[in-house]
Amino acid sequence: MSWDFGDWLCQHRVIVEERWLSRVQDLPAYASVTPEGNLSRWGVLFDCLLEEQIGALKEQVRMWADREVQEHGSTPPELLALAQGLSDTIRELLPEDRLWQGNARLGSLDTALAHYFAGEVERLSHEKSQLETIQEITQELGVNLDLDRMLHKTLLALMEAIGAEMGAVFLVDSAVGILTPKATVQWDDGTGVQVPLAALPSDWRLGQADHELVLKDLEAEPPATWVEMMVTPHARSLIAAPLVANGAFIGLLTVASPRLDAFDLVQAGLFHSVLSQVATAISNAEVYHLITHQAHELGQMLRHQQEQSSRNQSILASIADGVVMNSNEGKTIMVNPAAERILGLSVDELIGHDAQTLFSVFGAQGQKEASAAMETLLAASTMELHKAFKMMLEIGRRVIHAHLSPVRTERGDFLGVVTVLRDITREVEADRTKSEFVSNVSHELRTPMTAIKGYADLLHAGAVGSINETQQKFVGIIRNNADRLTALINDLLDISRVETGRVRFEPRPLQIGEVVADVVNSMAVPAQSKDLTLSYEVAGGLPELMGDRDRLNQVLTNLVGNAIRYTPVGGSLEVRAYPVEGAVRVDVTDSGIGIAPEDLGRIFERFYRADDPLVQEAAGTGLGLSITKMFVEMHGGRVWVKSEPGKGSTFTFILPMVGQEDEVETESGRSGERLVARARRVLIVDDDPDVSKLVKMHLEREGYLVFVLSRGRSVVPWVEEHQPDLILLDLILPDMEEMDGLDVLRALRQLPTTADIPVIVQSIAQDDGTAWDLKIEDYLTKPVDGETLLHSVEKALAWQGRVLIVEDDPDTLGLLSSTMRQIGFTPLVAADGYEALTLARRHRPDLILLDLWLPGMNGYETLSHLKRDAVTQTIPIVAMSAHVADADHERNRLIALGASSFLLKPFSVEDLLAEAEAALQPLAAPTSS
Ligand code: ADP
Repeated sequence: MSWDFGDWLCQHRVIVEERWLSRVQDLPAYASVTPEGNLSRWGVLFDCLLEEQIGALKEQVRMWADREVQEHGSTPPELLALAQGLSDTIRELLPEDRLWQGNARLGSLDTALAHYFAGEVERLSHEKSQLETIQEITQELGVNLDLDRMLHKTLLALMEAIGAEMGAVFLVDSAVGILTPKATVQWDDGTGVQVPLAALPSDWRLGQADHELVLKDLEAEPPATWVEMMVTPHARSLIAAPLVANGAFIGLLTVASPRLDAFDLVQAGLFHSVLSQVATAISNAEVYHLITHQAHELGQMLRHQQEQSSRNQSILASIADGVVMNSNEGKTIMVNPAAERILGLSVDELIGHDAQTLFSVFGAQGQKEASAAMETLLAASTMELHKAFKMMLEIGRRVIHAHLSPVRTERGDFLGVVTVLRDITREVEADRTKSEFVSNVSHELRTPMTAIKGYADLLHAGAVGSINETQQKFVGIIRNNADRLTALINDLLDISRVETGRVRFEPRPLQIGEVVADVVNSMAVPAQSKDLTLSYEVAGGLPELMGDRDRLNQVLTNLVGNAIRYTPVGGSLEVRAYPVEGAVRVDVTDSGIGIAPEDLGRIFERFYRADDPLVQEAAGTGLGLSITKMFVEMHGGRVWVKSEPGKGSTFTFILPMVGQEDEVETESGRSGERLVARARRVLIVDDDPDVSKLVKMHLEREGYLVFVLSRGRSVVPWVEEHQPDLILLDLILPDMEEMDGLDVLRALRQLPTTADIPVIVQSIAQDDGTAWDLKIEDYLTKPVDGETLLHSVEKALAWQGRVLIVEDDPDTLGLLSSTMRQIGFTPLVAADGYEALTLARRHRPDLILLDLWLPGMNGYETLSHLKRDAVTQTIPIVAMSAHVADADHERNRLIALGASSFLLKPFSVEDLLAEAEAALQPLAAPTSS
């Protein structure tokens, strides 16, 4: 029997193992294992030596080594030491003559080990190259924020690393809920693919999974629907995995191959290792994209704003009006060149300074007014007041119109105040020159007109011999035209008189019915000549009015004249006069051509005539209605029109009634039961103490508050500050060289705050008419007896027991005027805020009843205008409204705006009286000097 190495080995197994173990048990990887445990594992290597087939031996050695490495982390030197230990032990025990046979088998073991290590080296170098690929991919992902390029390059690198022929990255389009390809390589039809998100595995969609799916054979095992939808047609095997960034599913990474089972575990592992980096890179790129997009948009917005702002700047620079902007803290932040020019201050002197600097160039009064307006606007920033202030200010001899208004954003934030300045010196000047010119020319025309008319009349009457029919006719035409011209001149004179304050208004008790009858009768002939029916109706028992008969006659003549002029042949006209609450109302109705809506608002303007052929062909000046309006307003009334084109018009005016005032006065006397507006303040200016003492005594006995000044120079400042109701002025004063009575009077008339204060002149000099040009009430020649004096004073103050009622509802108006009349006030009526401001300034009433709900300028604005104007600011105002949610809150708000009190509609007559009385109280006791 021949010797066999395998048999020998089996026979000596125990001793070989014992010695082998003692040789190698100190190796680090095996220290913790028991000798028995080690032996059972190493037995595998021992068994390899029993294998005669070199191929099978290699395979067994490889399996042994793999297991040792995987399970125990054995290092190559340890594996070599184990094999060496076994070989050395066997060589020691082998009989010497069999050594060569044993060496052959042990050599095979060495060869198998060498083979194993060579394989390992190759595998590791492959792995190294793959790791390098990953590093390359990672670097690419880190530096490249251009998503398309980055994904494409990553895909190429990944495919190369794991030997895939095709690849794709799909990203979620969350707007439509699908997955679409973002980058593809060799992925046929890849670009059009759309996979609904709902088709994907739910743990993928929810971002809860990141493991890859490896499909070895797409032909053999039919894949899920979503894989079929997505995969390229030539793929046989594939790896796919979800991309998850910040816990959210953002897409899918896949590689594929036309080969069967093209990806093993190592490749799958490599695929897995890049997943999270790709996902993070995609989300970074998206954030980057978002940021660049936003930066781009912001940049565009900024450019747009810069353009807008420079356009605004050039607009501001090129407008002729001065524009100044003050911030909500009052600092000047913007000034255009026109404003610099108007104010005579440079940008540098204005920017950053407060409104005080801005307004410093105006006169003292202007500074006060403008600063007050600015302060009100700045203080009102939190309130919902949309008011604006308009005022005329003076810089030396120039007149500047200023308009201050708040600037708000669309959201209502308060940015500051914009002031628009316009130099209107020329307009003011032109207006004055025009009035003077009109007045002069009209006067100059009157003389030749008198001659023309007089001689025409003489000729017509045959006073210089008989004339034939044709001559008669021609002279008739001359007379008619002379009359028309005279009428025009008279109109112009009326207007310029009112404008320059020279009109003499002489109200007396009168019956309006008489005026109506007079006018209708006088217009009968012209009406007949056009075959018009002209009728009138006056309601019975109409009370008396206080009015200037000539003026009212003119008012009606104008209205009836227009009605005749603008009514075609055969039409009809009617005048009706009837009482309404507290007033007399007159309607002049015609069936004429009517007035177009766009003309309605303008026909009361001077020289305005409708652009209608029917109007243009009728002779006219366009002045009649403006004169009518002025005269009606002088009576404390108002006029308006209602009209329908083609059908006719009704012009209406109302005049407040006088009531029982005169009787009440004589019955109960000045200090009687009725509510007295307030004690009148009279200033005596006289250098003779005896005279002033006597006059003072007379007046005080009648309940007047009297103040005395003896020197001319002190008068104007005192009057400006104390605003007396009447001045008794001596014309000859001690400081005569500097300022005599007439100078004082002139100075008073020039200041807006003193221009309207009535003045009675007392003088030893005879009346030469000069003082009357300065709007005096009366001229008394000394010595003056007490009765004449008192009578004159009473007359001058007669129109001062006035209440201005600002109300557009006729019924309420009637109630208010009759109530106020009963307690001794003469009502003035304004239908809107503008009218109220004019009347208040002109007549300085003792009390104003102000409805807050007015057309045009509302009651709040009217109130603040009245309270800002030095002439009207001391007049007590009772505000009234029905449109109020919280009456107490409203009252406080109105009182803050300067009102004395507030009446909630509807109110009783008692309430009205109580509020009126309360409003008048504080003024009853002025300070004495
Ligand atoms: P005049 O009649 O001289 O033109 P007015 O001031 O009296 O001037 O009237 C102004 C304008 O108002 C008229 O030109 C006309 O257009 C219009 N107007 C006045 N009254 C009537 C009326 N009764 N019917 C139609 N239009 C009228």
